[in-house]
Amino acid sequence: MLTLNKKSPIAVLKALIQTTLLCSHLVLAGCGGGEQTTNSATITPASTSNTSQVSWEQVASPTLDFRPDQSPGAELFKKLVPSPQNYLREISQNVARTLYQQANEVPAFSTLELHIERWENEPNGVAWKAGDPPRITVNVNAYYLEKIAAQGVNVAEEVKGILYHEMTHAYQHASGMDLPAVEGLADTVRYLNGYIPISFRRPGGKWTDSYKTTAFFFAWLQEKKGYKSFTYCFNQQAKPGNANWSWNNAIAACTAQGDLSSLWNEYQTWLINGAH
Ligand SMILES: [Zn+2]
Repeated sequence: MLTLNKKSPIAVLKALIQTTLLCSHLVLAGCGGGEQTTNSATITPASTSNTSQVSWEQVASPTLDFRPDQSPGAELFKKLVPSPQNYLREISQNVARTLYQQANEVPAFSTLELHIERWENEPNGVAWKAGDPPRITVNVNAYYLEKIAAQGVNVAEEVKGILYHEMTHAYQHASGMDLPAVEGLADTVRYLNGYIPISFRRPGGKWTDSYKTTAFFFAWLQEKKGYKSFTYCFNQQAKPGNANWSWNNAIAACTAQGDLSSLWNEYQTWLINGAH
């Protein structure tokens, strides 16, 4: 990231040229410095592989470009997560398994650039994500980690929850999909992997409210209404080239019942009556 680079413009340009040259040979291993993998697994594009032999490890083992600062929050994370590369790969493979039924369906993703640093200009912020696959950047505020650690929260688990959401953006399809649905699906994957407590679920709102409100509705469709492949199906509705994405079309395709507002109303009634 040039914005973080304190070198002179010429040095930056030289580094950029070097990186570009290196990257042309090392795309699969990831570029940009930082922590390099000790695991020899690389990403194999699913389309060029024998489908019967493609493993989740092959398609969802991104390289981590880890860039912590020297803050207590970053140091605490490093102490709790001795192998951030393996930590990322476990999350990535669980995300891929939640979104897809077979490893050969998983789209290519190569590198996560993960910053953990004190946000001096925005000390109360939590995290942001930038970029698009095959490389995304996630930045977690070390001040936030320090604050929650003081409250007894496990920082490694908290960052894991953030990464379940963000790594869903790395692997999900989003062609034509409404942004609240994209964010809702990311929180669905986070919830299904155990990183959003059910106590956060509340009645009210609308399916387009996004994030947790949308996610708990999707989870209800999958876990309670019996549409066991809902997450998979909903993601498939936004495959590249799929035209005419809409809430109604996507819900109709993934539920036998079909009608979105009647499903939402049924979900609300279920919540109000105690969610049994
Ligand atoms: Zn998101």
